[in-house]
This record gives sequence, structure tokens and C-alpha cells, in this order.
Amino acid sequence: MPAPHDDFRANAHAAIDFLIDYWHALDTSAAPPVQSRAQPGTIAAQLPRHAPEDPEPFDALLRDVRETVLPGLTHWQSPNFFAYFPANSSPPAVLGELLAAGLGVNGMLWSTSPACTEVETRVLDWLAHALDLPARFRSDAATNAGTPTGGGMIQGTASEAAVVALVAARHRARTRLGRDDAPLIAYTSAQAHSSIAKAALITGLAATVEPKGGFLAGPHGSGLRLIPTLGPDHPTPHAIDPAALAQALAADRAAGKVPCFIAATSGTTSSCAFDDLAAVGTLAREHDAWMHVDAAYAGSAWLCPEFRAPARGLEHADSFCFNPHKWLLTTFDCTAFYTADRSSLTAALSITPEYLRNAASASGQVIDYRDWQIPLGRRFRALKLWFVLRSYGLAHLRAYLREHVRLAGVFADLLASDPRFELAAPPALSLVCFRLKDRDDAAQRRLLDAVNATGRLFLTHTVLPAASSSSPRVTLRLAIGAATTREDHVRRAFTELSRAADL
Ligand SMILES: *Cc1c(COP(=O)(O)O)cnc(C)c1O
Repeated sequence: MPAPHDDFRANAHAAIDFLIDYWHALDTSAAPPVQSRAQPGTIAAQLPRHAPEDPEPFDALLRDVRETVLPGLTHWQSPNFFAYFPANSSPPAVLGELLAAGLGVNGMLWSTSPACTEVETRVLDWLAHALDLPARFRSDAATNAGTPTGGGMIQGTASEAAVVALVAARHRARTRLGRDDAPLIAYTSAQAHSSIAKAALITGLAATVEPKGGFLAGPHGSGLRLIPTLGPDHPTPHAIDPAALAQALAADRAAGKVPCFIAATSGTTSSCAFDDLAAVGTLAREHDAWMHVDAAYAGSAWLCPEFRAPARGLEHADSFCFNPHKWLLTTFDCTAFYTADRSSLTAALSITPEYLRNAASASGQVIDYRDWQIPLGRRFRALKLWFVLRSYGLAHLRAYLREHVRLAGVFADLLASDPRFELAAPPALSLVCFRLKDRDDAAQRRLLDAVNATGRLFLTHTVLPAASSSSPRVTLRLAIGAATTREDHVRRAFTELSRAADL
């Protein structure tokens, strides 16, 4: 072992102390600006051009993190971070990461560290149970003959989950057709996350991300269709229009194309709109298409029974994912991915060179998660999720989620009390979309820039179709979800916004 090992105990303590002090400082009046003010290149300019020849003490490393790195960070763990969706960290997750790094195993195969696979399978089953997911997603789901059909695992991101789901869907369609040159068509809504389009690009179903007539065209007549969403005045605005989906499926079939994949979103990124999973699922069944459900942000809320209504119809899905790394206190990266058709996934992704052959895999009695994902190697990510679920317990996690949803309600009420503002979409879970009433897009952007420039909070924008306008309108989003956000932070956020509203 090189010299750094000697000081590991003391340095580890110093690193943990550093994090505790950092988290604490984010909630004081001396907190740094929530959004980094670094200009391009300014951080790199402070770093030497080459790595040192000789060892440097840990003190020097930590000092540079404090002085050079922190000013270049946007503070996602700040209680005043309301941008995008949250990316939670927490002490149990950090400790799980630390142990995973130090244990340093690669769980690519069951046999390369059996606990790495078996803890993951069990923890994903815990979550499936806690979210009341359909039984078909659990690892004990099986055919009458006892062949396993379902189960969960951890992907790095929802984007990777989408690629893997689409690869499995493509394989299943080609196998059913007995040919691999059919014009396969995938479907998602115009409000779906860009990762679905990226998955179509990566798999070759699409060759462009510039839609023409709501279609991302690919080779040989294949492509991804972006189905229109329900209008701003509809009771469920910005969710996929099931009638438009049905029409597109029928028209494509009539034109000799093969629907193979439908990605529904439960909790869209722009406004947390929920696609009707029962309606989409019925169409997916009818057309033999793989249904994937992307609930990256909203899935965590399904820990609470009162937030589960949008999950109705999930039993139609072939795959489903959500991100504990967004709103469930588990450090990035951690996407919980479930499938009800394990064999299509592994048939599409399993390649076994001689150097990976082993008796356990050959026995068919173990899961090799490398066959469910893009990379070969895998970290022991289940540890952090296991630590979070055990350290907090489900009851506390539910209380945590409910509090954020309550705070979103407080913020929405404050907006409603001020005639200068209007809601841009119905508040959903812990997300509130709003804008200045009767003001143009430039005014919305000015407001956003003005409040973010204070450094006292950070929120971001999107565009959403608006009733009064033919083109989408700039909309501000306040997403609550940092682990330390309390009511006073949310009230202060509103105060900042109302102060800047007349600029
Ligand atoms: C955040 C988000 C994603 C992307 O998540 P990654 O894990 O970063 O790939 C996908 N879908 C939705 C609906 C999201 O909100």
C-alpha cells in the first residue's frame, strides 16, 4: 500500500467533519450563493497543469476543496435549492457509498461477489413492496413452470433504464416477427423526458432529435413518435392524449409499420403530469408493444398510499423505473429499475465470452446483473439504498415526502394570494409551476434571473403549452425536495419572488 493508507483513519474523520460542517453552513446566513457564480474556465485556471510527482498531505487536498471547488459548486443540498428536481444526499447514503468504495468489489456476475447481487435483489423487492408495485415486478414472479419472469435492479440513471428497456422491446419485437429489418416504431409523449429520444437515437430507431410532424425519423421507416399532450384546460394537462396515441398506432399499423415500444411518463419533468397508465397500457397490450413507465421523480412518492393514484394501470407495464437518487435520500447514482419480462432483457443483452463462464451462471440459479445493463462492471450501489431504508425506516421516509408535498401546498397558497402570479399547471407532489400573470416571456426570465442573482435561492424554468397562446410559454418551476428544506425556506423563496415581481 502506498503511504496515503497510513493516515486514512484521521483523514476519513476530517472528511466526514468537513461534510457535516458543509451541510450545516448551507443553512446559515453565511451560506454561499446557491447557484455557483463561477465563469467558464475559472476553476481549471486555479489547478496545476500536471499531477504532482510527490505525495501531498490530505490537509492540502481538503483546503483546495474548500477554496477552489466549493465556489465552483451549485449547492444541491442547500435547503434553498428548488431547481430541476432534487438530488438528495444523506448521511446513511454517504456511509453506504464509502463502504462500497472501500470494499471495492465488482458485482458484474453473481459469482464475483454473491452478496452484491443478493442484497440488491432483496432491497429492490423491499422497495417493490413498499411502493405496492404489481407483483410481476418482484424477483419471485415466475411462470407456472417456475422460470423467473420479474425483478428489480439498480441502473445508474433513468436514461440508462430507458435504453435497456428499448433494447429489450426491440429484441422481443424482432423475435416475434422472425426478422430484424422491420420498420419498428416507438412512442412517447411530447412532454416525455429527452432520455426517451436519446434511447431511440442510441438504439438506432431514430436518427435525429429534430421532430418533423412529431416524428423522429430513423432508418428503414423506423422512428419515435412524440404524441401530443392534453391541453392546458384539460383536467390532466400535459399528459399524453390517449386518443392521439390510439390513432397514431392504428395509422402506423395500417402503413405496415410495427409498434414495439411505448414509454409513458408518470410525473413529467416540466410539470409533473401523469400519463394515464391504464389507457396507455391497454393500447400497448392491443398492439403487442413493450410498455415502459418512467417515474424518475414521482415514483418515490408511491411510498405513500395517498399519492399512488397515478400508478393505476402500472400492471400493464413491462418495465418501470424511478430514481431514489432524486427524492429518496439516496446519493446519485441510483435508479430503481424493474422488469416483468426478464427473459427479453437478458436475451437482448447477454453475451458470454469464455473468460466470464462460471458454474453458478451455468446452473441458472443466480442472477447476473451484467445481463440487465449496458456496462459489464457494477458497483455495490445497493449498500447505500439498504442503509437509507434501514436508517430512516419507511415511516420516516413517508413523513419526509409528505412534508415536501405540504410545503408545495404552502407555496401554491402564497402564489394564489398574490394577484401578480398565476399557476401554470396544477401543483403536483412537491412541484409548483407558475408565472407572472399577463406578462411576456421576457418578464418571466427577468424574474428568474433576478431571484437567482440574489444567491439566496435557486430555481429553474421550462416552457409549457398555454391556453392563451399558440406557442409554449416560459414557466418558472419550484421543486421542493432538498433534505433540509423547511417551511421558512419556502416562505422566504416566495418573499424573494414577490420582491422581484415588479422589476
Ligand atoms: C430526471 C428525469 C429523468 C432523467 O433522469 P436520469 O436518471 O438523470 O437519467 C428521466 N425522466 C424523468 C421524468 C425525469 O424527471
